[in-house]
Formats: sequence, structure tokens, C-alpha cells
Amino acid sequence: MTLKTVYVFGGNADHSDPRQKDKTVAGGKGANLAEMASIGLPVPPGFTITTEECVRYLQDGADFSDDLRTAVAAALTHVEATVGKRFGDAADPLLVSVRSGARVSMPGMMDTVLNLGLNDATVQGLATSSGDARFAWDSYRRFIQMYSDVVLGIDHGLFEEALEIAKEDKGFYNDTEMAAEDWQALVAEYNTIVADELGRPFPQDVHEQLWGAIRAVFDSWDSDRAKVYRRLNDIPGDWGTAVNVQAMVFGNMGETSATGVAFTRDPATGNRAYYGEYLINAQGEDVVAGIRTPQYLTKAARETAGAKPLSMEEALPDAYAELARVFDLLELHYKDMQDIEFTVERGKLWMLQTRSGKRTAKAALKMAVDMVAEGLIDEREAVRRVDPMALDQLLHPTLDPKAERNVLTTGLPASPGAAAGKIVLDADTAEQWAGRGEKVILVRVETSPEDIHGMHAAQGILTARGGMTSHAAVVARGMGRPCVSGAGAVSIDRATRKLRIGSTELKEGDAITLDGATGQVMLGIVPTVEPELAGDFGTLMVWADKLRRMKVRTNAETPDDCRMARQFGAEGIGLCRTEHMFFEASRISLVRQMILADDEAGRRRALEQLLPEQRADFTAIFEVMAGLPCTIRLLDPPLHEFLPHADEDFADLADATGLGVDHLKRRAGELHEFNPMLGHRGCRLGITYPEIYEMQARAIFEAVCAVKASSGEAPLPEIMIPLVATKRELAILRALIDRVAEAVFAEVGTRVEYLVGTMIELPRAALMAGDIAEEGAFFSFGTNDLTQTTLGVSRDDAARFLSVYVDKGIFPRDPFVSLDIEGVGQLVELAAERGRATRPDIKLGICGEHGGDPASIAFCEKVGLDYVSASPYRVPIARLAAAQAALKKA
Ligand code: ADP
Ligand code: MG
Ligand code: MG
Repeated sequence: MTLKTVYVFGGNADHSDPRQKDKTVAGGKGANLAEMASIGLPVPPGFTITTEECVRYLQDGADFSDDLRTAVAAALTHVEATVGKRFGDAADPLLVSVRSGARVSMPGMMDTVLNLGLNDATVQGLATSSGDARFAWDSYRRFIQMYSDVVLGIDHGLFEEALEIAKEDKGFYNDTEMAAEDWQALVAEYNTIVADELGRPFPQDVHEQLWGAIRAVFDSWDSDRAKVYRRLNDIPGDWGTAVNVQAMVFGNMGETSATGVAFTRDPATGNRAYYGEYLINAQGEDVVAGIRTPQYLTKAARETAGAKPLSMEEALPDAYAELARVFDLLELHYKDMQDIEFTVERGKLWMLQTRSGKRTAKAALKMAVDMVAEGLIDEREAVRRVDPMALDQLLHPTLDPKAERNVLTTGLPASPGAAAGKIVLDADTAEQWAGRGEKVILVRVETSPEDIHGMHAAQGILTARGGMTSHAAVVARGMGRPCVSGAGAVSIDRATRKLRIGSTELKEGDAITLDGATGQVMLGIVPTVEPELAGDFGTLMVWADKLRRMKVRTNAETPDDCRMARQFGAEGIGLCRTEHMFFEASRISLVRQMILADDEAGRRRALEQLLPEQRADFTAIFEVMAGLPCTIRLLDPPLHEFLPHADEDFADLADATGLGVDHLKRRAGELHEFNPMLGHRGCRLGITYPEIYEMQARAIFEAVCAVKASSGEAPLPEIMIPLVATKRELAILRALIDRVAEAVFAEVGTRVEYLVGTMIELPRAALMAGDIAEEGAFFSFGTNDLTQTTLGVSRDDAARFLSVYVDKGIFPRDPFVSLDIEGVGQLVELAAERGRATRPDIKLGICGEHGGDPASIAFCEKVGLDYVSASPYRVPIARLAAAQAALKKA
């Protein structure tokens, strides 16, 4: 049996084929339309062309299959029969919308075309059959503009300009003031614009219109905007988009008609209150486009805001009651907060879309915890529900409540969090400035999909227009960027690149701060405070901890970072790099003396002076981490990184050592390396200059013994030898460390437990893991270097080509962000297996950046590692991701 390419929904359609409700086949929008229709909700009839058909079309060089043409014709007949109108009928035409719908909602896809099926003849029929000529011509002008823009590629500015002029001529302010003749006159003008721009008239054949729109949806899958979005959101290029063709219902049929968007709970706070906006006598995107200021859904919300125009609850009470009933049904059915689109046509409610709503991290936590209390979902589902990466929003500093705020204006609190930076007025500038390391706030009248790259580059977004469901608000929430929208006191002068906020004059480059939780816009940079895990966040973390198997440690090398990480739930240190201790300004001269010394005696003299400093570093860390395992990596970077460059540095050094400048410069020159990443670094330093590792080991043991003596509880030091390739390297260095340990224990008269192990970061080490495990009690996968050495790609040089590689699908994601499971992952898996074969109780962990990446964490669970280690702010993310990984595996 061949699989269906088109599925009908609504009316008496059969919704039983599970493929129709499968987002991978029907797209998110199509699947949910079918789902709503099948549970008896009022959905205008229509049909969905599968994502598979899009992929086929693109593969076939933009050609429709015969199969598709036949299936669409049959589906159209279903819609005609259900509605009781025929497509293209000059007396009483069926009109449809053509809507894109990928597996996940994706900005950058073709915008929806409404009112398709209108032409110079059918518009007359629509006027007669509806008894409303204004409505008919309004619909036609919308159709010509939308179709010309998204299908024919004519600049929509031309149409908007013509509309503005027409309104000005009449002295109108709102579109709703336009009468039938006004719209009709505008349609004539629109037709002239199309003919001028296109060199041929607007297509009058309704079937040509339909296939043109279907083609445009398919093509939009490969548009630049879509590609950018996919890259930012890790969406594979081979999913394709579905196309939904659906009978129109009309919110623009006068005062008993309306259109709106709503959430079953508040997407910003998570509060259990219907939440949304609507507009009377409007169609489609009018609500989100900021054409008129939308009105509140509920009476309570309107009163809280002190707004005048009636809420839907008051203006259209019957339709509202029906909507509230649908809300409850939807939540019970989907067991999640829904984001819906609806239209009321002459008092009757129609559902046009539902999907699980985007929400802030705060709302996600609250809803998950509330829904468990309501009995809608269980703890496991709550843990599954929250996107670990979204927690990032809550794990960043918020504005210090005690700091002074010079508030310029207050807009809508569209996406929470604090953001401070320099004002930029367009997306390209945002990207450029951010690219050179500046923090920027993107300030726009309103945003559109063309601004996505700039929104991504910015710390926060401020818009002058648009509500809580505007493009800026929705996208910012999705990206986790703080956003203040609809700040009417902001006026921007694009020409001079200046702006005014209230009475304050500002220019591009001036600093402002946004508080996305309150909507405040402040002058200058306002100080921030650290976040904490309380309330719903804390509750969810407790559930996650119950469900996870792997431990979560942190990568930290200062007592402050360690404290922060412990507050976030870190159960040890997975990676403490010791080189920063060498780089510190007060010590660098000693380090340089050590490196440039002519012989061992010279090196030892400098190291002796470094020892107390190192011991103090470790003592401070161990005090915070008492009782917990701490992996400490001995010195790793090549020595030349510490070398002086400036003449005065050499002069100082000459003074300190009594050696001549020329001599020192020659020594420095000898240390030059062509490829330091593969040079004299890691354990190779320990092998050639054992006194360096000796000093570090001594500092560690003395510090552990001191902490044990003072607090009674020692941490468990796990001394990690970097860049090992052979068993012999580890054997030599382990013997050295054991020797130092015995010496220190004898001196202080106490013993502590410790482990010696290695970082697996070279392919040879992974391959020889069975051998190496004979000498090492633990492996920590250093997946940053393991990725570099396996791919032969230097991370710091990869920026130039990696994005192209991701675009072309060579790598599904940046392999330095998310582990290359297929390749590098094999080495990890194999090393874990071989290591365990030799030493069944070997401790296994990961300490690369990947330890904070949910997809990589899922892989670590699969391989059975004992722990992951992430930077302090990512510890809660890792805890949740580890729990989700365990659930997935179970
Ligand atoms: P998007 O994915 O951008 O939300 P949609 O296809 O959902 O695109 O719709 C754009 C707007 O048009 C929405 O407000 C939607 O409710 C409206 N719309 C879509 N199809 C119809 C229809 N058949 N009748 C009336 N309004 C529609
Ligand atoms: Mg849209
Ligand atoms: Mg929609």
C-alpha cells in the first residue's frame, strides 16, 4: 500500500490514520488540526499535504508528482462538499487559506495566504452571498497583498504605501473606517502595482493561485531565513514542511466577528489564567501585527490593565463561553498549556490552531509543578517537560533590587530576565557589534523574521510597538532573550540613528538596561545579583535528582565558582585546571623564571616559591569541597604560553634572575613551537620536567592534609594527568605522585585517600584504554581536545568554516557544542568498555564543555559514565538533562 500524500480533516473526514496526527508526517499545525477535529472541536474543513511530499518535491527539482495533483483534487472536493461552496464559483465561492506547517513551528517559512480563491469575478459573488460588500473587497485586497508578497515576491511596502495614502486621502485612522468603495478602489490600484511589478496581471485562475501557493510553501523550506533558523535551533534540513489548505472563516464580517490568539495559561508567569488578545472585525495576523492595539480576552485582565475597550468576555459572551470550554477540553486532552488561534464568524467560534505553547523557563517550571499538583501529569512527566537549556534563562543574574534604577519608560514585560548593553537600531549592526564582543540591545519599532539574527546576537530586545504575542515577544521568549515590547514612549529616527525614550535623547551606542520581568527600560548599566534555586525550580530539581543515575560535578578553579556550583547542586569537581594559578599576575614572574631557568636547580628555586601559593589555592578550594571528589588536572598548556613578549618584561626578568636579556630572549626563542596544540604540553611537561608536577602534587597533598586537620573532613583528590597517550607515561607520573604522597604523609603524620587517573583526550589513549587503565583509577573524557584530535580540527580556528559545515549538513551540529556522537562518541564508548574490562570499578566521567549539553549528556548516560561535569551555571541544566536521559533509557 502506498502511503497517503494528502489527508483531509473536518466535516465527516476519517481521522483514524495515525499518520495524520503524526507531526513528522503532517507537520505540527496539520497534526493538531486533525486532532482537534477528531475530538469534535469546531475546525473549518481542509487538507494537509505531507512533509514527505515536500521533501520529494525538492528532491525532484521542484516538480509536483501526479499523485499529489490527483490527491489534492479529491481533497478539495471534500472541502467543497463540507462547506457547501465550490472553489472558483463566481456566485458563491469557497475561499481557502494556505498555511505552511513544519514538524516544529518555524519562523522563516512561508507566511500564510488567506482568502485564496478570490478574483475579479468571485469577489462580486462573495459580496452578494455574504450581503457585505465591504467585507468582500477588504478580503480581496488582503489576498492580493499577501499573495503578491509571499508567492509572487512583490515588495509588500508598495501595497502598504498605497493603503496609507488611501487612508490619508480620506482622513481615516483605522483600516476599519474604509468602506466597500474605498477597498474596491484600492484593489484597482493593487492590480496596477502587480501588473507593473510583474509584467502580467494578478493570476485570475483560482487553481493557478492554489498551486502557486503550495509551491511557495515547499520552496520556503529552503529559504535563507528558514536555513538560519534551522541552524540556530538545530533543526535538520531534511524534515520538510507540510502544507495546510483550509476553508476560510471570517473574523472581518463586522461587529460580531473577531479573531484572536490565546494561551490556556499565562506563558510568561505560568499562572493559571486564560490569557490572550483579540480584535473585533479583523482577520488573520491583525492581532499580532500591531495594526490596531488588541483587546483583552477576559474582563479581569482588562480591569487589571485599566483598559477601556471591552474584553471578549464582555463583548462576545457566547463565543467566549465556548472558547473557555474549548480551553479546558484542550488542556485535558493534551495535558499541557496550549497556544491557540481562533476566529469568531458572526458569533460562531472556529478553532484554527493549537499547539503546546512556548513559555518562559519560569512559566515552564510553574506549569510543570502545578500540573503535578492538579493530577494532570506525574513527576516523571514534569521532569521530561522542562527543556534543560531553557533553565539557562533563570540561571543568570537578575537586576539587583537594591540598585538605583533610572527608569526611562515601562513597556510590556514580554520575556523575563535582565539585559544591559549598547543600543543598536538594526539587526545587522547588532550582529556586527556583538561579533566584536560588545553587548547590545536591539531597539526596533517592531521586529519581523528578517531580524532573527540580530535578536540572537543581542542581549535583549526593546520594541516600540506590539503586544505580548507580537513577533518580538514570541521569538524572544523562545530564544530566552529578555524583551520589553510595546514601549510606546520609544521613538526612533533611523536616518540620524538617534532615538528618544520619553524625554531622554539617546543615540546608537548608548547603554540601556532592560528588565523583561517588569517591562522597565533603564538608562545605563544597572548592577545584577546571582540567581538561586528556590520555589518551583527547587521542587523540580528534587524530582530530577530522584530520577537520575549519573552524578553531576562542576568545572571550577576558584573557591567562588565552587561555592556557586555547590549551591546549584554540584557533587564534586570534575575538572580543576591549574594553569590559571600560573597565569596570575603576582606569580607570572616566578613562572617565567622557572621556565627560562637553565637547569633543574634553577627551576626548583622558582618552584619552591610557587609551592606555598599553589597550596593556598588548593586549600581554599578544598575547604569548600570538603567531603567531595575533586579532579585536579596537573599543568597542561605548553610553557611558551607563559613567556614574556614585551621588552620591559624581559628587562624585569633579567633583574630578577641575574641573567642577561639576550640570553633570556634566546631561551624564549628555543621554546617556540610550530603547532603548540600538538607540542610540548600536558604530561609531556611532567615527563621532561618532573619537578613541576612534583611541586603541584605536593601542594595538593599538603592542602588536603591541612583541610583534614582543620575541618576533620578531607575532599577526595583525584589527580589527573593530561594528554596521556601511553600506559608508560601514566606509570612514570603515577609513581612520581605516589612518591610525593608518601613523603608528605610522613612529614605531616597523617594519610588521606587519593586517586591518580588520566584524561582521555587522544585517540590513542582511547584505543589503548585497556592498557592505560592498569595504571589509572579513573578516566575523565576531555572531549574538547578529544574532538580536536579526532577531527583534526582546531576549535579556535574552526569558526571560519564550521558554520558552513553545519549549513551543508556535514556536521548536524557544532561538534564542540554537542558531542559528535557518531565519531568521537565511538572513542568514548570504546575507551569506557576497554577501561572497564581491565578495571571493573574504574571511575568514568566527562569534563569537556559537552558535559553541560543535554544531547551529549544523554549519550553519557547511554555509555554508563558515572558523572558529567559542567560549568557552575550549567549544573542545574546537567542535573535535569541527566534525569531526562535516565528516563529515556529506562
Ligand atoms: P502562523 O504559523 O504564522 O501562525 P497561520 O497559518 O497559523 O500562520 O495563520 C496566520 C493567521 O491566519 C492566523 O491568525 C490564523 O488564525 C489565520 N488563519 C489561517 N487559516 C485561516 C482560515 N482558514 N480562516 C481564517 N483565518 C485563518
Ligand atoms: Mg505568521
Ligand atoms: Mg498560527
